[in-house]
Parts: sequence; structure tokens; C-alpha cells
Amino acid sequence: MMSYFINVILPIPLDKEFTYAINKDEAGFLKPGMRVAVQFGKSKVYAALVTKIHQTSPLAYEAKEIEHILDESPIVTLDQLRLWSWISDYYLSTKGEVMRAALPGAFLLESETIILKNESSVFDESLLKDDEFLIYEALQYQSLLRIQEVMDIVGKKSVLPVIKRLLEKKVITVQEEIYEQYKPKMVRYIRLSKEYIKEDSLRVLLDSMTRAPKQREVLFHLFTIQAKTKKPIKIDELLKASNSSAAVVRSLIDKKILEEYRLQADRVQYLGEKVGETKQLNEYQLKALVEIKKYFEDTDVCLFHGVTSSGKTEVYVKLIEEAVKEGKQVLYLLPEIALTTQLIARLQEYFGEQLSVYHSKYSVNERVEVWNNVKDKKSKAQIIIGARSAIFLPFIDLGLIIVDEEHENTFKQYDPAPRYHARDSAVVLAKMFGAKVILGSATPSIETYYNAQQGKYGFVQLTRRYGDVLMPEINLVDIKTKYKKKEMTGHFSDTLLLAIQDALKEEEQVILFQNRRGYSPVVECNTCGHSPQCSNCDVSLTFHSYKNQLRCHYCGHNIAMPQKCMACDSVDLSTKGFGTEQIEKELETLFPDYKIGRMDQDTTKGKHGYEKIINRFEEGEIDILVGTQMLSKGLDFRNVSLVGVMNADNLLNFPDFRAHERSYQLMQQVSGRAGRTKKRGKVLIQTYNPYHQILQQVSVNDYLGMYGDQIEERYQYKYPPFYKLIKITSRHKDYNKVNEATDWLAKSLKNVFKKNVLGPEFPPVSRIRNQYHKNIIIKIPQGQSLNKTKEIIKKINTSFKAIKDFSGVRIVINVDNY
Ligand code: ADP
Ligand code: ZN
Ligand code: ZN
Repeated sequence: MMSYFINVILPIPLDKEFTYAINKDEAGFLKPGMRVAVQFGKSKVYAALVTKIHQTSPLAYEAKEIEHILDESPIVTLDQLRLWSWISDYYLSTKGEVMRAALPGAFLLESETIILKNESSVFDESLLKDDEFLIYEALQYQSLLRIQEVMDIVGKKSVLPVIKRLLEKKVITVQEEIYEQYKPKMVRYIRLSKEYIKEDSLRVLLDSMTRAPKQREVLFHLFTIQAKTKKPIKIDELLKASNSSAAVVRSLIDKKILEEYRLQADRVQYLGEKVGETKQLNEYQLKALVEIKKYFEDTDVCLFHGVTSSGKTEVYVKLIEEAVKEGKQVLYLLPEIALTTQLIARLQEYFGEQLSVYHSKYSVNERVEVWNNVKDKKSKAQIIIGARSAIFLPFIDLGLIIVDEEHENTFKQYDPAPRYHARDSAVVLAKMFGAKVILGSATPSIETYYNAQQGKYGFVQLTRRYGDVLMPEINLVDIKTKYKKKEMTGHFSDTLLLAIQDALKEEEQVILFQNRRGYSPVVECNTCGHSPQCSNCDVSLTFHSYKNQLRCHYCGHNIAMPQKCMACDSVDLSTKGFGTEQIEKELETLFPDYKIGRMDQDTTKGKHGYEKIINRFEEGEIDILVGTQMLSKGLDFRNVSLVGVMNADNLLNFPDFRAHERSYQLMQQVSGRAGRTKKRGKVLIQTYNPYHQILQQVSVNDYLGMYGDQIEERYQYKYPPFYKLIKITSRHKDYNKVNEATDWLAKSLKNVFKKNVLGPEFPPVSRIRNQYHKNIIIKIPQGQSLNKTKEIIKKINTSFKAIKDFSGVRIVINVDNY
């Protein structure tokens, strides 16, 4: 007899695929990309993804049978499975982790034992023991209970015995159930019943309704709407237009004059009506467009380096338009979807319903709908705009990927695994489809620029702003001297204050950038020097005056602001450094007649948090906006004439080999928010060190100079793009264990990779949420096989895991650590 098997990926962090047994019929029905419910371990049931159907039984274990088939057809394409494989290989993560990251939550089915009341039996309540009675009682109020709830009710973890007893006494039944969370949203529509569609019958109908004026009114409006649009008419829409009640419509439905029907609605909907024309490009944009297309004849990836406000987006739009015309799907990747309502609105104006947004913050339902639309190649999801997880969508015929602001490090997923870089993965994804990739930025990453210089990527530039708007004038303000000369008010130099006054007088807006949130980072005792630390992390707590709290920015731990020093009881406490909140406070005193707004993680919580602040600023309800680096991200404000950087030094001094590159990018991007229209914008950067090379380069917009210096340093000190980096972090709550573990790892790695292993070393913040962290960095020179290197790392990791002393130490591997 023939046996049949499938390989599946389980949504748990396991490296291997598992094999399950199926019967012949199932083998005929199943396809890779379909889900099956399988049992794993003793009691867990998972929806696993089929990757292969075959006839080879596993050697190491006896294959279990599957429980159910969950899908009628594949929900994941073969191309996606290839991308998953690449990601798990390249970023050293398991397939299960990739599956978890890739699938919308609704596809990751949960198994739960569900306990129900046994309705069909009669028993004596008085025979129940205490814990049994508690559960029985709970079931009188709740139709079902989950294991967790049972644990809560009886107040202990081991509940299987009591459940077993209740089962034997026939008090309850148990149902092992897999449920789907996804339910498509249905919208109610209304139409005229068939009999009345002919003109004659309609007139008869209307005539017959002279004594039901309200119903007549509804019908009249239905016809009016119908005359204007061929689209289905929503009940809501009809009620609104005819200004009538649901009861009137209901009676028409009861009389069979109208007919109600339901259609599946898409949650992410374009609400506007008009689809506008795309803009006519100017000569420079046109030239760029022609060059890009020329490169695309024989290159897949093109770097598009255009200064801020040069009109890159309009060039993307033309490329999108062409791809869509050819029937291709387009992916538009952004570092942060929350900050891009402006862009989405702009693209919707051009592409209307063809544009869909995909984002992990959207509800499960919204994501599944976009997913299905992409898989079915629906025209309404032909253009997808999304943050990094959008690379996981089931594209069928991808033609173009735009990676906007490609230099942004938020494209790299930091936690949890897979720690993938969406830009680099997008290049791989594109290759699978023969699609083209545009990497766009005003401040490209060193890696991408290097690739362009090497001829690996095409390279197209836009060096002037659209409409010949001048680049802003950038000046450095030496605050060391200003402090000495007593020309500072709080954290504001007289130069900056004057510039703010000028701008406000002209009714222009101001943006102030401070790379820290909170009131001031640390509280310090002037008597003994103590400053309150987080109890879980190795950082000082940050003062937030709004709530009069000290908060940890790593773990969220917070306490009320103490009245006196916790070490020596002195009441002489002062605050050191400053954050957005303190700047906001100072501004309120300095400019009492103007409205001050603040944009940082604390003020933008919730799905529409950013949007509200951005809108208020756009509408002129805020005169001065203070914010963190969120402000640097591609916002386009018409009326901002001044941008101030409160303190450039804490950016530059960050202990990271990318700190200078990042500082340049950040300051150039924030500066780009100034003077996007008529008048030349102004930027003031306050610093203790105005002669810093990076600041000099920022002030004259010298990207090439910055690139030249950085690439030289990267070469000298063996960093990317010349060497690849893999960071291995050990985490454990025991300090000594972390030390021993990293020592062991470093020694094993140094045996193979010699001096290309750095560390182990504690990072600047070495304890987070009570876990100590220690890092080892492996540098991989060009010419050393990446695959072999990773094989060795995996082997060492496996040996490590086998050591009993190190059990419980978590190892995190980050490839291309950003
Ligand atoms: P970038 O993406 O390079 O920052 P944008 O595409 O946002 O620049 O363009 C900056 C501004 O100039 C936007 O307000 C945009 O509407 C306008 N703009 C760009 N190109 C054109 C064009 N060809 N015609 C009219 N307006 C344009
Ligand atoms: Zn003290
Ligand atoms: Zn903390």
C-alpha cells in the first residue's frame, strides 16, 4: 500500500519542517500553501502550512495523521514560500518565525480546549467537590470556558485532573476546536425587486403609492441615486439621501418592492470620489524618469537620489502609472505608515480604489482582505502601500517596488525574529518576479550609495527642488559661546529666539527638533549626585512633568516624581539634559500668544495619534511644533519657514559606527521640512561643537563629502559595506551566566574566525527588563562565504544549546545588524 505524507511549517520557532501522514484522497486534494490542523506535542493543535506532498516517511519518528484540512485552496503562493526560505536562511531565523511574521494573525489559528456545560445530563449538585462546583457555577453564566479561565477560577495551574473528574461525572463536555477569527465584513445593499424593473410596472407602482408618501419618497431617491451611479446602493446611503427611517425601507422590503442583499465589504476603503490627473513633470523630473527607465532596461535596482522636495514622489507616480497600465502589481514601501497620511491621500487622488494600504496596526480583518485581493490580483489592490511587512503579501504579478526613504533603519526588523531588512528583502522579492526596484532618498544609506557607485545599482539624481524653491539656508549656532556670553534663555540661543519671532511675525510656522522625549532625561541630586535608576534596566529614569512621573524609556516602568533624593533625603534635586516636553514648556512661557504642539511617542499613541497632530499643524492650529525624529520623516508642510535643531551633539555622540551617517541623514531630513514653498527656508542647528565635520557637511548640504568620509572610515575599520556584520547577543537575568555564556561563545567563534570576532562586550544599556545583554560581533570580509560562515555559527549555537550550564540563556542572532 502506498503511503502519503506532507511536510509542514509550524508557526513556532523550529528550524525543521515536520512530516505528517495523509491518505490518498487528501494527497490528491492538498497543495503547497494550504493549511492543515495538526497535533504537535502532547496537546497542542496548530494550523500548519503545507510545503510539500510526498511519499517518503520520516526516519526519526512515526508521522502522525493530520486532523483536518483547513483551506479549499492555497492561501500562500509558491513564490512566497521561496521568499520565506530566503529570509530564514539569510537572517538565520526559523521558518516558523518567518511564517508568524508573514501571515496576518487571522491565518495563524489557535488551538484551545473549550469547556462546555453538558446539557444532556442530570446529576446531583451536592456531590460536587469545591473546585468542581466553582467551574460548574461559572458555566451557568458563561456558555463556554477556556483552559486559562478555568485556571483563574480555581486559582491553580494544573486543572486537567478537575476537568477530567467533571467529565467523568458528565457535568461538562470538552471540545477541541480550531476557530477562524476572520469574518468578512458584510454591507447591506438595496435594489428594486425584479418585477418592478420594467418601466410600465414601475409607473403603476408609483401611482399606487400616492397614499404612502414616505415610501414613495424613498423610491424616488433610489431612482435618483441609480441614475447617477451604476454601483450598488447601500441601505445607509439611501436612508440618508431620502431622509427617511429604516422602518419605511423595511416595509418596502416586506412588500417585496425592494430587495435587500449583502456584499462583502473591504475594510480599507477609498472614500473620495474623483480620480485626479497625475502631474506633468518638469524637465528635470522628466530627465530622471527617462534615465530610470533606461537603467531598467538592463538593471533591476535603481537608486534615486533626489534632494528633499525635488519631486521624487511625482516621478514614482509616473512609474506606478505605467506599471499599472501593463497590468502589473506595485508595492510602495514606507518606513512608517503612520506618518504618511499625506502621501496616501496624494496617491489616492491619482489612483483611487486601485490603492490599498497594508499595515500591521490594521485590524486582522482589514489585513486579510488586502491579502486576498492581492492574491486574486484584484484591481482594487493593484498598488499596495505599506510598511515592511507588506513584502510578505501574496503577489501574483509584481512589476515594481518603490522603497521610499530607503535609508531609514525602521526597514530593519529588530525584534522579534526574523530580523529582516525590508529593503534588502524587497530586492530579492523583485528578482523572483523580474520586477524593478527604485530605492529613493534624499540621504541614501552608505551601503546603497556604494552599490550605485560600484555599478551594481543604477543611479539617478535630482539636485534641485521642484519649482526652483531654494534649499534652506543652514546655520550653526555655537551654544558654548552663547552660554558663556549669557545669551541663552533656557535652551534657546538669542539667534534661535529671534528667528522664531521673525517667522511668527510673518505668520509662518516653526518646527523644533529635539531628539529626546520627556521633560528632561535625568533627575540628579545636587547633594550626593544620585539619580534614580530603573529597577529593571540599567538606565536613569526620565522625568515627565505632565504626569509628574519618572519613566523608563526601555521598559515603561514608572514611579511618581520623588520629593527628595532617595539616597540622602536632600530636597535639592535638579534636572540634567532636556527633552521635548521641557522645550514645549519653555516655549509656552516665551511665546504665550502662540500655540505650541508636541509630537513624540508620548503624544501620538493610538492609530490616529500622528494624524491628528499633523492635521492640526497643517490647518495652522499649531504655530510651533516640537518633536523627536518623527518630524524628519517625509512630511510636507507648506508654511514652515524655520526649523531649529535644539542640540545636535547627543546625536553625534551616539556610540555606533553609523552614528555620523545617521546624524547627517536626520539633520538633513529635518532641514528639508523648511521652506518648501516660495520663500527660502531657514535652519538653525544649536551645538557645542560647530566645527564637527558632519555639521559642516550638513550646513552646506554636502552629501558626497559625508559619503566620502564615511566610506573611508568604514573601509579603515572594517564595517559595511566592506564587511558584513552578524551580532550575537546573549540574554539572561543572571549577570555571571551571561558573562560565562558569551565567553564560551566568543572563544568558539574566535577559533574559527580569529580576529574578526569582536567582544564580548556589554552594550551601553546592558540590562533591560531585568535581563543582562552582552554582544559579540562577527565581521565577515568580502570573499568569505556567507553560507559557510552561517553554517559554522549555527553549529556553534547548537553545541552551545547542548551545554546544561547555559540552559535558559537566550541567544539572539542579528544578521546585518542595524
Ligand atoms: P520629494 O518626494 O522629492 O520630497 P515631492 O514629490 O513631495 O518631493 O514634491 C515636492 C512638492 O512639489 C510637492 O508638494 C509636489 O506636489 C510638488 N511637485 C513636485 N513635482 C511637481 C510637478 N511636476 N508639478 C506640480 N507640482 C509638483
Ligand atoms: Zn542625594
Ligand atoms: Zn526599565
